[in-house]
Amino acid sequence: MELDKLIYTVSYRNIKYPRIEFITGSMSLILPYGYNPQDILNKHKGWILKKFSFIEQCLKDSSNKALIPRTDEEFRKLVHHYIRDGSEVLKVRIRDVYFRKMKTKWASISSRKNITMNSQMKQLPESLIRYVVFHELVHMIEHRHSKRFFGILSAQFDKHEVLDQELSIYWFKLQD
Ligand SMILES: [Zn+2]
Repeated sequence: MELDKLIYTVSYRNIKYPRIEFITGSMSLILPYGYNPQDILNKHKGWILKKFSFIEQCLKDSSNKALIPRTDEEFRKLVHHYIRDGSEVLKVRIRDVYFRKMKTKWASISSRKNITMNSQMKQLPESLIRYVVFHELVHMIEHRHSKRFFGILSAQFDKHEVLDQELSIYWFKLQD
């Protein structure tokens, strides 16, 4: 794949540094006024091509990944179940759980100890819901994605890279 064949959008904003986003599977360049798109493309060529081929592979793999029909109620019950389980294992306590459609992530946890789950997770396999919930709960102990964070995560999910990959596949599947 060559750089000059790539399709992307450019938007200019009042920002200091340029950035590249792949949130929906297509590339967006967000640039400070007066910035030449070609400059950022050349500078990050290798990384960009790698990202495109990663997404291409995810979309290919996504054709044999099924979405699971589940009601909101069933999804909420599952999430609460895994929060209870994970909280017990980690000896943590969260305040509340919220559900809403999120554009950039599967879930997040706030400093006020509230978990927000991306409602699009509703259609994902239980194993991935359990994993994402646990990931957020580990953040109650360790804020950053540090070595310590992955140490705690790996104790429960020894093949978490495989699960991360699965999550990426589902992410791009749901973007179509
Ligand atoms: Zn995290």
